[in-house]
Amino acid sequence: MSRSSLVRFTGALAVAAALLAAPCMGFDLDAWTRAVDTPQVGGKVELAGPLDLGWITVKPRPGCTVRELEANGSRCGLLFDGPAELTVTITDRFMLPVARRNIRKATSLKASGGDHGSLRIVEPLKGAVVWGLELPVPPATGGGDHTATLPGWLAKIFDDPIFTHPSHELAEEAFEGAHGTVVALFHGEDDDLLLDQNPIIDQLEELFVVKKIPSRDAVNGGRAYIVPVAAQPIGRHWWDHVAAPVIATAEDLSVTNPSGQQVTVKAKSTLRAMRGGVGLWRVALAQRTRKERNVYPVTVRSVLVNGKPAPWIHQDNELLVRLYPAPAPGATFTVEVEHEGNFAIRPAGDAYWALGTWPWYPQPALNAELARLDLHVTVPKELKAFASGDTVSRETKAGMNVLHTHLDGPVQFPVVAAGDYHVFSDTRDGVHCDVATYVFGKKKAAKLLLDFFFSAIKIYDGYFHTPYPYKEMHIVEINQWGWGQAPPGVIFITQEAFSPLSNTINQIFSQGINERIAHEIAHSWWGHVVKMDSSEEQWLTESFAEYSAALLLQSAAGSKRKGERLFNKVLTSWRGGTSMIGDGASIYLHGYMAADDDAGAMDRIRVLYNKGPLVLHAIRLRLEKKLGTKQGDRYFWAFFRAFLKHDGGGFGSTEDLVAILNRITGDDWHPWFERYVYGCETPKIK
Ligand SMILES: [Zn+2]
Repeated sequence: MSRSSLVRFTGALAVAAALLAAPCMGFDLDAWTRAVDTPQVGGKVELAGPLDLGWITVKPRPGCTVRELEANGSRCGLLFDGPAELTVTITDRFMLPVARRNIRKATSLKASGGDHGSLRIVEPLKGAVVWGLELPVPPATGGGDHTATLPGWLAKIFDDPIFTHPSHELAEEAFEGAHGTVVALFHGEDDDLLLDQNPIIDQLEELFVVKKIPSRDAVNGGRAYIVPVAAQPIGRHWWDHVAAPVIATAEDLSVTNPSGQQVTVKAKSTLRAMRGGVGLWRVALAQRTRKERNVYPVTVRSVLVNGKPAPWIHQDNELLVRLYPAPAPGATFTVEVEHEGNFAIRPAGDAYWALGTWPWYPQPALNAELARLDLHVTVPKELKAFASGDTVSRETKAGMNVLHTHLDGPVQFPVVAAGDYHVFSDTRDGVHCDVATYVFGKKKAAKLLLDFFFSAIKIYDGYFHTPYPYKEMHIVEINQWGWGQAPPGVIFITQEAFSPLSNTINQIFSQGINERIAHEIAHSWWGHVVKMDSSEEQWLTESFAEYSAALLLQSAAGSKRKGERLFNKVLTSWRGGTSMIGDGASIYLHGYMAADDDAGAMDRIRVLYNKGPLVLHAIRLRLEKKLGTKQGDRYFWAFFRAFLKHDGGGFGSTEDLVAILNRITGDDWHPWFERYVYGCETPKIK
């Protein structure tokens, strides 16, 4: 069955799904999802041919019985009880090299070339389970065989996996109109594979290989996780963006740490339905926190929709909330979630904690959070609190420190930190900056950082013609080594930024510390003025911040010659890093590169932090070649500026870059981007 006929076929079954989706009062979402994840095995199904899911087919072999799976009074899938043959055909031209790399590096699968440069995997299966409310197959013949049960291999994979159970996808199909959703587990001779096919909400089909964390990992040993093998957009180009069904327009977050690690979070999200029929709110929410070998649960206390209790489940680091009746298109509604847990993890006896960019509050997908922000943070009086946003008030109430911050937004992933900090502050040209040093008042280092911050935002403003977007910045020291993070209005930076170069470990990590801070400050533009709505667009934040940091160091070097030398040194390191990545490394599809070992993870980093800035430099050189150095450079800056201005704090996209370059040069840049950004080629730079 072709894809278009599959869509028509499933459309006819929408009525059945709608019936299934209509809950009576007291609907139990928990029971619904449990039934889907551990369905009843029903009667035999006679397939006329292989199960055809478009790019994937499953063909029963002799000795295989195909049976219905049932949950909540309807068919929810098929069991291939016995040997079968899986065929995967990958045709997307941008995915082909990435998939080839993944298959070679992360699987035991054998792939061969198919028609028109496609890639074909044929894998013998020992069994398969396919979930879907609208699978294109006939009903069962005869009644259920009550002796048949789910296979044992399935239970092993679903014993506390580090990915979501099928019910989360199927809930979207049942309650959110995500027709044609399919989740499948293929128990292969060589590898177990997971299929996630979502034609409506993600408009994406993805295949993963299932792996197990080695048992030597004391906390997560034995848990199954997934590594990408291949993915293809459904009915769109990679660069066509997918709109979220629901967008968070305001987040009121109250974070209370009465003592110790205990934190209660009350999160009120104001949401807008972007279309009709959205009967589900699906967001990320951490399931547990961890300190060394200790694991603590996160407990959801209550969920209210428009002030009334609503069905919900909290499972696999996600919160699913039933919206019934579904809000009208364009309607605004609120979801209030109260949860608590040991969020205030203080590493190794330290006196600080940080709620970073991970889902410590009900966190929408990247394309679903454009929020006005109010944060209320209450901490014991020996701690000082910092949070995204501009300070509204700081006060002491009942012996506790209370901070209220606000940002008109739109904002993604707000953060909070609190600790035994010494704070050094300055206000210049209307921008206030706090530098919070941990435990010791590191006055000299803090003063240097303040100077660095204020000169950096001046230089960036000069480059970008867009001022620093907030009234405040809080640079907070984290008592670890070697990383930085720049959520809105806050920079978490590790201690080498603050310490005099007194010992070896410091010297190792301090290499390039200016570059790192320059990079984090640049995120105020690349990440917050221009936001990313998907992991595909992550180079708009990381590669642009990296390139901007190199330019900042160049212009702050003191002399033209010194500046050029510095820039060339960075350029050489980008080239070196890029040359180590190997084939199948697409900037746009870096998130689909298998990264289940250190080498793979390093390659993803090199794509964003080495190849991405190298491609930006290649754009600059191409402009200079066409227009001369001076004019080309002016056009390059015009390109950066136009991009920062074009959407007023919303989501940027690579296609916007192409459109701006087309406009200012009169050339068609799309083929160039298809080679170097969407595709896997590396531009040659002398
Ligand atoms: Zn970054």
